[in-house]
Amino acid sequence: MPQLIAGNWKMHCLAEQAVALAQGIAAGAHGLAAELLVCPTALHVAAVARALHGSAVAVGGQDCHQSRQGAHTGDIAAPMLRDAGAGWVILGHSERRQNHGETDELVREKTLAAVEAGLIPIVCVGETGDQRAGGQETEVVGWQIAGSLPKPFAGVIAYEPVWAIGTGKTATEEDVATMHAFIREELQRQFGNAGQTVRILYGGSVKAANAASLLAIPNVGGALVGGASLDPTEFLTIARAAQAG
Ligand code: PEP
Repeated sequence: MPQLIAGNWKMHCLAEQAVALAQGIAAGAHGLAAELLVCPTALHVAAVARALHGSAVAVGGQDCHQSRQGAHTGDIAAPMLRDAGAGWVILGHSERRQNHGETDELVREKTLAAVEAGLIPIVCVGETGDQRAGGQETEVVGWQIAGSLPKPFAGVIAYEPVWAIGTGKTATEEDVATMHAFIREELQRQFGNAGQTVRILYGGSVKAANAASLLAIPNVGGALVGGASLDPTEFLTIARAAQAG
C-alpha cells in the first residue's frame, strides 16, 4: 500500500488562499508514489474539492459529529462532509481532545459515523509530554487504540506525540520505530489479521528536512503534516520522500 501524506490545514487560509494552496499542490502531485490528501477547514472542503477535481489529491475534513443529523448547532455531520466532496476525515486530533474535551468513546462514535457516511477516518492517538516523561506512552496509546477504534476498523491511525505537534520537536527515529512497532502489535492483538494492514501515519513537526528518514522507518505508513502542509513546495517535497509500499 502506498504511503499516505495528509495535510492538516487546521484553522488556516481564507477561501481564495485554500484554493490556491490546493492548486499549487495538485500541480506537482502527478506521478508521485504517495497517496496525497489535504484537509482544509470544513467551510472550504467543497471549494477545495472542486479545485482538486481530476487531480491526484484527495480532500478530507478535520472533524465530524457523531450523529448523522440533528439539533447540534455549529456542528458538521459526516454525510455533509461527504456531500461536499470529502473522502476522508481526521478524528480525535489532540487539539480536539484537549480543546473540546473529546474522549476515546466520542472519537469511536465519530469514527463509526464517518465510516457509515463513506469517509475513511484517520484516528489520531498520542501521549502528552508529561505522560512520556512518566514512561506511560505505550500504556496511553494502547488505551486510546482500544477506546477510539470501532471493531472492525476500516481506516488509518496517526501516531502524533502531543509534545511534537507544532513545536518543531520531532520524536527521534528510535521513538517513532518503538511506538509504531508497539501500535502494530496492539492492532494485531486487538484486531487480529486485519491489524496487519492498517496504515499508521507519523505526525509531529514533519517537514521536508526530516521526511525521508521518518518515512523510511518500519511500520510508518505515511505522515500527517500540520504546519509544513501550508507550503506547496514543502508539502510536495515531503510527498516525494514517500514510498510506494
Ligand atoms: C498536526 O497537527 O497534525 C501536526 C502534525 O502538526 P505539525 O506538523 O505542525 O506538528
